[in-house]
Amino acid sequence: MNNTITSIDFANLPMAYEEHKEELDIAIAEVLKNANYIMGEPVRELEEKLERFTGAKHAITCSSGTDALLLALMAIDIQPGDEVITTPFTFIATAETIAFLKAKPVFVDIEEDTYNIDPSKIEDKITSRTKAIIPVSIFGQVADMDQINKIAAKHYLFVIEDAAQSFGATYKAKRSCNLSTFACTSFFPAKPLGCFGDGGAVFTSDEKFAEKMKSLRLHGQTERYFHKYIGMGGRLDTLQAAVLNVKMNHYEKDIINRQRVAEGYTSLIQGAVKVPKVAAENSSVWAQYSVRVQNRAEVVTKLKAAGIPTAIHYPRPLHLQECFKYFEYQDGDFPLAEKISEEILSLPMNPYLSEEEIQFISNQLKTAIQ
Ligand SMILES: *Cc1c(COP(=O)(O)O)cnc(C)c1O
Repeated sequence: MNNTITSIDFANLPMAYEEHKEELDIAIAEVLKNANYIMGEPVRELEEKLERFTGAKHAITCSSGTDALLLALMAIDIQPGDEVITTPFTFIATAETIAFLKAKPVFVDIEEDTYNIDPSKIEDKITSRTKAIIPVSIFGQVADMDQINKIAAKHYLFVIEDAAQSFGATYKAKRSCNLSTFACTSFFPAKPLGCFGDGGAVFTSDEKFAEKMKSLRLHGQTERYFHKYIGMGGRLDTLQAAVLNVKMNHYEKDIINRQRVAEGYTSLIQGAVKVPKVAAENSSVWAQYSVRVQNRAEVVTKLKAAGIPTAIHYPRPLHLQECFKYFEYQDGDFPLAEKISEEILSLPMNPYLSEEEIQFISNQLKTAIQ
């Protein structure tokens, strides 16, 4: 055992600043000097970078991943009583934004090995009120978008990729965020590409939807103080854009390191626990590296005692959340989402974990599960 390891940082946000401190300090100071806090030059610069990186024609930055989802749902004019198909195994925002617009999240169970929505179960849930499908690229891996797009096209539905965890991932050699009519990502600090606060972006290659979402982000205005739509104050701060412009310059390297960490874990713990599976057509950005264990509470306690933080994504599937009681979903409706919620456990994941730390965490995990 390596006794130089005393404690491990789960996402290691301090290092994300330390590593590029000089560059970041200059970029931040430049914004302060110019005082162009709202929609300053770095915002458009970032959007161009995001467009080049993903291949999507339009990247529209906004205040969070949650607001990115709202902008996409508002762009397709989701109305009270509409239905939107999604997964119950995700962060609340995916379904919360649907319900916020008084529409109904219609859940579909997930796949046992990727934890993404099971495309073979989608068509059964389509009704005359269904307007869209929101697959979530969970833990950094894209869902089976070809299948989902095919079902959507057949039934005239929109597809919105919730790519909050998958910015930079690939599916059949194409980037996440450029795989469907809309995609939404988040720059929340702990996401694979994080800023120093809240931030997000919505992507589309459709000119009309891009214009509409740019307007919705700015209180629905088409020119100053003339408002075509009911919109929101949903802009990304110039400061966050400046931070992201620096972080984008190094993001490819971060992805490679996240993949290095994931491969390290898998090689050391497979066989002992159920490790994540990446589909052959995918590359993951590893928003989370999550294993499945039977004695989770005990494992969490033992790892904590060894100085290893863990997290549970997510302890309760969305159909069983109190806020959605009025939809009358029941225990047992989505057996895989329910089972996996009880077993899933995320290990520390960040680009800075050393080989020694990966070894240490893996050894402690193997001891803890016994
Ligand atoms: C983080 C996250 C969001 C919301 O992003 P915020 O920037 O925190 O609003 C939405 N969906 C998923 C799957 C997420 O992980």
